[in-house]
Amino acid sequence: MDTLIQAVNLVRRYGHRSAVDGLDIELARGDILGFLGPNGAGKSTTMRMLTGNLAPHGGTVKINGVDLLERPLEAKRSLGYLPETPPLYREMTVDEFLIFAARLNAVPKDHQRDAVLLAKERCGLTDVGHRLIGNLSKGYQQRVGIAQAIVHNPTVVVLDEPTVGLDPNQIREIRQLIRELGEMHAVILSTHILPEVQSLCNRVQIIDKGRTVYSARVADEESAAEILLVAFDREPSLDDLVSLEGIREADRLDNGRFQLRPYPDTAISALAGRLVAAGWGLRELTPQRRTLEQIFVELTTRESVA
Ligand code: ADP
Repeated sequence: MDTLIQAVNLVRRYGHRSAVDGLDIELARGDILGFLGPNGAGKSTTMRMLTGNLAPHGGTVKINGVDLLERPLEAKRSLGYLPETPPLYREMTVDEFLIFAARLNAVPKDHQRDAVLLAKERCGLTDVGHRLIGNLSKGYQQRVGIAQAIVHNPTVVVLDEPTVGLDPNQIREIRQLIRELGEMHAVILSTHILPEVQSLCNRVQIIDKGRTVYSARVADEESAAEILLVAFDREPSLDDLVSLEGIREADRLDNGRFQLRPYPDTAISALAGRLVAAGWGLRELTPQRRTLEQIFVELTTRESVA
């Protein structure tokens, strides 16, 4: 696997409180990871550490195989970052600012013009190069923010809330741009917008209180139902059920049904075949897909007792 980001056991404290408490993140080329969590979960802190803008108290980060803490300049060449508040200079024109960004990102002088042209083209900014950033709409300013993040053609792009404050048309355009970025790069996208994850991302990681509480591929429709409700004429034991290939957990519900949790990537059709072949008289099988919203709410709203 072509691993482009590998963060292991990241830790960051503020005073005595842990903002990030042992996080792992791994991304391969072609991945668009939706990084989710309630306010204060530690998303921005994590993204700042992943991009070398904040020193972790523990853990390691490798970008494209290069250790970010040991060789920061080299590692950062493979990184593009759109922070929550993009560092735009309102009194510069788009061209001036992107040349400046290319220079900051160590694009060789004789490549800077081409790099800026390409970034503008990819972000739909070709016609506004001479405009002052301060006079652009918020959607265009966001494009400039993304253009500065990709001007050096990084292999990893980290975007913190890239569609916040945009109108629906602007959101559609920025999402399309992110999709295109995902084809050539690896993208981490922090967002509050769950449908955004479902429409854009192939993976999702939910964090709460600085820890990962959920990590999964965004399921394609065919496979990986989260839960199956099943009923039989002749009830098997729970041990019988979990001994079948593909079943991770089984519980008996009060209404005579069983609730099964398959392993991820288990095809329901194959599992159904095994349940029939087991000879318990399968008479009901209902996949229950939890929406990302249900998962999010369930995992991040538990009251902490401490
Ligand atoms: P998110 O981006 O998920 O909203 P943050 O990473 O901004 O979360 O914050 C995680 C936790 O760390 C929160 O409890 C926040 O109050 C705390 N925190 C973030 N930045 C600082 C800081 N500079 N000083 C003190 N506490 C901070």
